[in-house]
Amino acid sequence: MLIDLHSHSYYSDGVLSPASLVRLAHEASCDVFALTDHDTIDGLKEAMIESENIGINLITGVEISALWSNMTVHIVGLGIDPENETLKMGLLKHKELRSQRAIRMARGLSGAGINGALEKTQAIASDGMITRTHFAQMLIQEGVCKDMKSVFRRYLTGKKPGGVGAQWESYEEVIGWIHAAGGVGVIAHPLRYRMTNTKARRMIRSLKEAGCDGVEVVTANSTKDEITLTSKWANELDLLVSSGSDFHGWPNQRIQIGNLQELPEPSKCVINKIING
Ligand code: AMP
Ligand code: MN
Ligand code: MN
Ligand code: MN
Repeated sequence: MLIDLHSHSYYSDGVLSPASLVRLAHEASCDVFALTDHDTIDGLKEAMIESENIGINLITGVEISALWSNMTVHIVGLGIDPENETLKMGLLKHKELRSQRAIRMARGLSGAGINGALEKTQAIASDGMITRTHFAQMLIQEGVCKDMKSVFRRYLTGKKPGGVGAQWESYEEVIGWIHAAGGVGVIAHPLRYRMTNTKARRMIRSLKEAGCDGVEVVTANSTKDEITLTSKWANELDLLVSSGSDFHGWPNQRIQIGNLQELPEPSKCVINKIING
């Protein structure tokens, strides 16, 4: 069974429409697919309509930013009710935090001689959620940097001109929103944070203690060793496992929907809990 439970549309920092993503997932022979935009569920309705048209099993999703020990982590909510008020109110708060952060980022960038950053970035994000990816693409378009890797390193992280922290809600709170909406919470890409493995495992344990249900064991570029390590943690901490490409669709990214290695223990996949309750 081919399962891809992590992807982004232009409602957050992806390039494609929700309907195009659903079609791509179908063409890639995914049996189950989830749209998980950053801090927004605005694309779900369109994805649901298209998935019914073409007959693919769509899981409603969202990838929510959260604070753990003063660091940003991402928690994917799957099987959520998009009408749930607790979740909607929480996401509204994050949308506001994003607007405020964007203003501060633009101010930082203007200090580094990059003018009109907010307007230019807003034009790229259009009506969707404004993210650092949009700032990155703007800086590439302006010829300030040549690729995503260097732009994040030189401008958008730590103490760099556009490196601005955001006071996301705590992981406990965010897991609460997901559960209130009837969903399961999954720790996204556990090895992609700026943490040592020891710290990442500690983070996963905290989230599990707060009721998080699973951890993403397979992502697009996972090595065999990474999959082995994260499934070992999942076993030790009694967490379910998930698999998702984190597809965004930017031409300078080489990730494909559904192009994922197999989960070592498919019977522990979060999908069973989502479908069977
Ligand atoms: P935000 O949630 O607005 O802080 O933006 C985070 C997004 O930026 C992530 O979801 C990734 O899509 C993207 N991102 C973060 N770091 C990098 C990087 N080093 N290279 C490319 N994209 C990145
Ligand atoms: Mn992203
Ligand atoms: Mn993420
Ligand atoms: Mn993602």
